Amino acid sequence: MSIDFATATFKDFENIPDYDIAQRADYFYEFLDTMKSRGHMNYRLKNTSGTDAILNIDIADQNKQYVSFVTSDYLGLTQHPKVKQAAIDGIEKYGTGTGASPLIGGYFDYHSDIEKKIANFFGRNEDEVVLFTSGYTANSATLQILMQKEDIAILDMGVHASVHEGCAFTNKKTFPHNNLEALEHILKVCENTYRTKLVIVDGVYSQEGDVSRAKEICDLVKKYNAYLLVDDAHGVGVLGETGRGALEDDALFDKIDFITGTFSKTFGNLGGYVIANKKIASFLKFQSRQHIFSVTPPPSSFGILKAIDLIDEEPFWQQKLWDNINYFKKGLNDLGLDTGITCSAIIPVKIGDQNKMWDIGRILLENGVYTNPIMYPAVARKDARIRMSVTARHEKEHLDKTLNVFDDINKKMHIAKK
Ligand code: PMP
Repeated sequence: MSIDFATATFKDFENIPDYDIAQRADYFYEFLDTMKSRGHMNYRLKNTSGTDAILNIDIADQNKQYVSFVTSDYLGLTQHPKVKQAAIDGIEKYGTGTGASPLIGGYFDYHSDIEKKIANFFGRNEDEVVLFTSGYTANSATLQILMQKEDIAILDMGVHASVHEGCAFTNKKTFPHNNLEALEHILKVCENTYRTKLVIVDGVYSQEGDVSRAKEICDLVKKYNAYLLVDDAHGVGVLGETGRGALEDDALFDKIDFITGTFSKTFGNLGGYVIANKKIASFLKFQSRQHIFSVTPPPSSFGILKAIDLIDEEPFWQQKLWDNINYFKKGLNDLGLDTGITCSAIIPVKIGDQNKMWDIGRILLENGVYTNPIMYPAVARKDARIRMSVTARHEKEHLDKTLNVFDDINKKMHIAKK
């Protein structure tokens, strides 16, 4: 078995028939060395300062400043003095950890307060919320316990990796991104074949930055007697008149069977949540292995309580975020760069070829701009892109600097699509 290093991605080394773990690791190590020698390694860079729009990273023992587009801290709340103070207060009161899982001593009053506050934020009841230690686990754990071998999960092609993991032990079908005709076809075919049919979509898609057709999907799911799960990790704080996310403007919060999300992006912390009807929520609290056997979010989660309040108390962060998104996207498009169909704070610049994308990632970095190069399997093999997340912490000068670097790259490498 030989893998072509010129076109390979990390995923290609996941399993190689006939290679044991040591041989696979050896081979992968060789691949990483090749990538490093080409300067294609802007992954796992060592951040030495935090999540702000300007941050420091340490590359080959050189600590330098960069304009950053790699954080999903969309409203900049990780840096907000009131959020930081709340986290500190939580630690002062309770210490640094909870030391136990929720069933056996790790369920604290502030967990109950977070359940209340996030429920209230979405107009739901507190007994409908289940907390997890990450957004990833919220998806994977929920799906893993709800979906058994008699059931089928029907996934939009663009859903997050955590959803795929949660569906590893159930039947699974994917439909082309946002293609409702294809979804309806699958629902029709499966209607009488499987016990539970669960459709899973994202509110905002993490690599494309576009939104799901949630309202139409919701209607379709009802028509075929199926369930719907929407993961709005990237929509909350960004979309919706009052920052409730991709489901707000169509008032879908009480129409969707499962809403999942994370505290790690707009809420600037750690942890995930699932909102379902109170009986299913209760089932998850006592049946989900990851909920039962894993420790609860630490006292620094006090910051979440303040972050949720700030979405209403300081709506100007959402306004500033949108000023930045519109300014930056227009700037990129004026250069002729293809930003796809994004309508959120995630802005991809489509490149196509993976090696070209890595070269561009490296040049951006050399010029003080830190971005995410995205490759297969997060996107299709010939659809590599530089992905950037805009936040309310960016200033015009950061965006202008980045646009200038893209302009120079475009002059040399001709990446404009128009
Ligand atoms: N869902 C989506 C759509 C995501 O993009 C992510 C994070 N990349 C997650 C879930 C997982 O969230 P967390 O990082 O809090 O585990």
